[in-house]
Amino acid sequence: DHQIHIIGGGLAGSEAAWQLAEQGVKVRLSEMRGGGDMTPAHQTDGLAELVCSNSFRSDDAERNAVGLLHQEMRDLNSIIMRCADEHKVPAGSALAMDRDHFSDAVTRTLSEHPNIEIVRERIDRLPESGLTIVATGPLTALSLAESIGAATGADALAFFDAIAPIVHRDSIDMDICWKAARWGKGGDDYINCPMDKEQYLAFHQGLLDSEKTEFKDWEKDTPYFEGCMPIEVMAARGIDTLRYGPMKPVGLDNPHGATPEFPEGRWAHAVVQLRQDNALGTLWNMVGFQTKMKHGAQVELFRTIPGLEKAEFARLGGLHRNTFINSPKLLDSEMRLESAPHIRFAGQITGCEGYVESSAVGLMVGRYAAAELRGEPLPTPPAETALGALLSHITGGADARDYQPMNINFGLFPPFAEKVHKKQRKEAMTARARSAMAAWLAEIDRKAAS
Ligand code: FAD
Repeated sequence: DHQIHIIGGGLAGSEAAWQLAEQGVKVRLSEMRGGGDMTPAHQTDGLAELVCSNSFRSDDAERNAVGLLHQEMRDLNSIIMRCADEHKVPAGSALAMDRDHFSDAVTRTLSEHPNIEIVRERIDRLPESGLTIVATGPLTALSLAESIGAATGADALAFFDAIAPIVHRDSIDMDICWKAARWGKGGDDYINCPMDKEQYLAFHQGLLDSEKTEFKDWEKDTPYFEGCMPIEVMAARGIDTLRYGPMKPVGLDNPHGATPEFPEGRWAHAVVQLRQDNALGTLWNMVGFQTKMKHGAQVELFRTIPGLEKAEFARLGGLHRNTFINSPKLLDSEMRLESAPHIRFAGQITGCEGYVESSAVGLMVGRYAAAELRGEPLPTPPAETALGALLSHITGGADARDYQPMNINFGLFPPFAEKVHKKQRKEAMTARARSAMAAWLAEIDRKAAS
């Protein structure tokens, strides 16, 4: 006799269940752990288990985007934030917690809620009818992942997270780089970083020598791996493999490199290309640079690329098991599957990244579903807030051709129209977010009262 079925009792599913139940909606929460199944990363049967670190990262709501997201979630009665605050352990300005106490608290609170029924079962197919929230996370059971793939099209479902590093646009030196597409086709869509022969050879050697992370055993068996070869593996195939692949220089005339002999500019020995990653144009990804190099090694080596000496990375490259859908292509603005609108997605499977982000998306999806049941749509949170910035990235701001999971960061927020000094920018962003959030909360309250 439930009104909504949530699949997956991780961080997102637990938060969505709470938000719905608190608004009087009857929820069935299906969690496969405790019913004879386990994921390769979880260790317990508890809801909202933290699979790796025990930290929600910075709790600084004035200067940090994830700290701001914490605050907004607290304002919206988040169970995940409440249990995190109640079970925090000392961690400086970060919010870290006792993982067992935290998970126990979420499990107990949801079990005791009269509107929530927790069922320990694995769901193998997307339901054909009935309001549903899929929150099965990066390690979604393969049977359900196949059913999701059938509904979305296989090429809109990723099994691996092959992340190329993403750079903040304002940290790229445009006195060295230039914008152009190869052979001038397609306008000037790419930012190009030129290398001469000496620089290329040093860079190539750097890729071979860098410290790499290993695949976990269970990651080796994950399907669809061929599609995303790490840059260092390509480099190991031959000295010029990259120059015929992602670092191909042909057709890219460098306006900074024009000489009397080559008045039209000249081709570099190799070129690193960056492609715009979000609609705002604040984030750019390094094309073809997915990598298993350790994070420190990436920063060190990628800052030797001409024009990226001062690069600030919104995220570094990586490659690991992560099931997620191409949300910008598949979901509407309320996180419904456009082709089957009784189904919503929440959590990391939507292509956000991180405990807090997954919980935040669960929170909003729960609220959207509750509003739909009441028959009155919930206004979208403003893009100036952390919640709004995250959702707008997922539902359309990101580039669907190359959708990569992302943590919340200030690059997802709309830039200021007026000039704000770099030193004041973070505080200005969070102040703007707070007032936008206050206005939005007032609007929801007004609607609820009327
Ligand atoms: P989950 O918390 O994984 O919840 C999904 C739930 O669905 C699970 O309980 C699972 O058992 C259940 N489920 C799956 N399939 C089915 C099915 N067919 N039927 C019923 N139930 C099902 N983020 C960080 O911020 N910090 C970290 O340190 C961190 N480390 C990570 C380490 C690993 C190995 C992985 C894979 C991810 C990590 N993440 C980390 C990323 C991410 O934030 C977490 O995975 C987070 O738990 C995602 O929340 P979620 O609710 O979307 O998924």
